[in-house]
Amino acid sequence: MGTSRAIELADGLFAIDAWMEEGPERLACYLFDTPERVLVEVGPSNTLHHLTDALDELGVDEVATIVVTHIHIDHAGGAGQLARRYPKASIGVHKSGARHLAAPDRLWSSAIQVFGEEWLTSNWGPLEPVPEERILVLDEGDRVALGRGRFLDVMHTPGHARHHIVFHDGESGGMFVGDSVGLCYPHGHFVQPVTPPPDFDAGLVVEQMHRMLERQPTFLGFAHFGPDYRVAETLAKAEERIWDWVRVVEKTAHLDGQTAAEELKRWNRRNYLDSGFSQDDILEYEAKTFWPMQVAGIRRWLATRKS
Ligand SMILES: [Zn+2]
Repeated sequence: MGTSRAIELADGLFAIDAWMEEGPERLACYLFDTPERVLVEVGPSNTLHHLTDALDELGVDEVATIVVTHIHIDHAGGAGQLARRYPKASIGVHKSGARHLAAPDRLWSSAIQVFGEEWLTSNWGPLEPVPEERILVLDEGDRVALGRGRFLDVMHTPGHARHHIVFHDGESGGMFVGDSVGLCYPHGHFVQPVTPPPDFDAGLVVEQMHRMLERQPTFLGFAHFGPDYRVAETLAKAEERIWDWVRVVEKTAHLDGQTAAEELKRWNRRNYLDSGFSQDDILEYEAKTFWPMQVAGIRRWLATRKS
């Protein structure tokens, strides 16, 4: 069973299209409709009603735990609002992200630096604080209860963000990876790096992907977007692409950020064409990518390595 926006991946495990930025296949949330319900990812506040409509259709009246893989606004922006809607839910987040959910002002102002206030306000929307006493602080080795002795295992996977965590469900074999592997849209099946400042660290991203593979997940639950069942192949491709992008950004070190971003985009387009992608898929990936941010993140990491 499912709704228009939910697909049942395994018994009681749903992928929900959250219709972020009012479009399909931009953000996937995952619901464990288990004795203790757990929701993975929230999405921004502006489009939260799409998620809650889907949850209503699934008959979800209460959630035990809402977890976010990291606090970036496209994953956690609506956490305060969703906490209000499900007053019994705990909000799980890595320990170094917790204070930003409780007091989101700094998160908002740093996002403004990257996206600009106008874009943020109209696409993602405002942040409300999560009451501190409802925050469930998570770290490597912790477990999130699903009920009847079943748990989600938490792995701390810094690299995309220092406070990034992923969740492994031993029963379905799913690994819910947030942005720690990159993004991978189902129609294109092409994994693309996501490398934002200030935390992006190529070495750490790759190290964490190796750790994830050791657990032999049966699928990767991407936030952007959906489940991917070619786990080993996808992780290997993700690793290769990260080093490709680092090389391109190194080569364009003499250019200003905007021009370097254009170069990365051009390189990527050639690479997509060589990989046999359709023009439509390429344009879709390009439109969903904030190129100057990617370059800024890689440049920052290269600079910290040199110093
Ligand atoms: Zn994201």
